[in-house]
Amino acid sequence: MKIIMLGAPGAGKGTQAKKISEKYQIPHISTGDIFRANIKEGTELGKQAKTYMDQGLLVPDELTVNLVIDRVEHDDCKNGYVLDGFPRTIPQAEALDKALSGLGEHLDYALNVDVPDENIVKRMAGRRACISCGATYHVVYAAPKTEGICDVCGSELVLRDDDKPETVTKRLGVYHEQTKPLIDYYAEEGILKTIDGTQNLEAVFDDIKRILGE
Ligand code: ADP
Ligand code: AMP
Repeated sequence: MKIIMLGAPGAGKGTQAKKISEKYQIPHISTGDIFRANIKEGTELGKQAKTYMDQGLLVPDELTVNLVIDRVEHDDCKNGYVLDGFPRTIPQAEALDKALSGLGEHLDYALNVDVPDENIVKRMAGRRACISCGATYHVVYAAPKTEGICDVCGSELVLRDDDKPETVTKRLGVYHEQTKPLIDYYAEEGILKTIDGTQNLEAVFDDIKRILGE
């Protein structure tokens, strides 16, 4: 099962992708996580990506597309995967389609987690990420067992630099301009499924399971 997650930043793509990955036993591939891991390791890719991410801008397609296309060709992707945060532009979607059709493959579902902008700012202000393993929480809706501490690895939880309100507003603008057109793109391909992302975490996942099958 090959799935992509669509939706505004903070809509809950990562949260649901993790659940999908666990239930359906397919890898969760998040371009944001890959870039953050590179930043942490101080790689050249990380240095380049950071300059864009800190401003709330998209990392250029030249740095992003091949990274994902190489990744989905790994053995662990044979039975499928859930892509979270990619594609984010029409050229990225076209490059993915082209690469997949070259392999005789195709995407099965584009899951669009729909959340209005008004809810997004609140979601992002409360999001906390682990500095070590990248696990994500929300101070109200998905709180860790101990405030400020990661349940998974015990490290500190922080507000991501790009989740500060001024950057969130910028990222939402970029989403509307560059990423939202993908909704029509995948509707035309006949694989778009839209889910009401304003529901609680479990209700969103119940809707997703109804689409993907139990
Ligand atoms: P994305 O990957 O789309 O940027 P996340 O999955 O990181 O978004 O979710 C953004 C924030 O909102 C996180 O703090 C997460 O815990 C919280 N969140 C995700 N889904 C829901 C939901 N259905 N209701 C309330 N909060 C949610
Ligand atoms: P995310 O963790 O998905 O919210 O992504 C964080 C940031 O990483 C985004 O705001 C972008 O700067 C960058 N990024 C992640 N995925 C992509 C992508 N597919 N194309 C361009 N930039 C991306």
